[in-house]
Amino acid sequence: MPIDPTLPYDENNIFAKILRGEIPSNRVYEDEWAIAFHDINPQAQIHVLVIPRGAWVSWDDFSARAPAEEIAGFVRAVGTVARDMGLVEPGYRLLANVGQHGGQEVPHLHVHLFGGQPLGRMIA
Ligand code: AMP
Repeated sequence: MPIDPTLPYDENNIFAKILRGEIPSNRVYEDEWAIAFHDINPQAQIHVLVIPRGAWVSWDDFSARAPAEEIAGFVRAVGTVARDMGLVEPGYRLLANVGQHGGQEVPHLHVHLFGGQPLGRMIA
């Protein structure tokens, strides 16, 4: 079920638990601002989720309220993950779902990073 992106942050969402190390994830990257791990239900050969360490519900929440330093740190982390995975030359896709129409299911901001194959049309 898509979440309501205007609700307050839920400290018990699944990505908060991954950040705290309470449930396992297959991490590919971490730094001061972000962690990245493989999606449990991959939609492409490479499907990684990059999430900020901060408690932000959605792209809307983050872009409106996060400090500039945190925004810069997160955006750079997304780029670093793609570079580290060798995805720049073949290319990749970023996606952030927001709210009902976006189909966001986990109420902690996450950017999907897809690659490893031609990705086809932007929207199925
Ligand atoms: P969204 O629909 O944009 O909120 O995407 C949520 C994503 O989180 C989906 O692609 C799920 O497969 C993924 N996901 C849910 N639980 C886990 C988990 N425990 N570890 C890794 N990925 C997960």
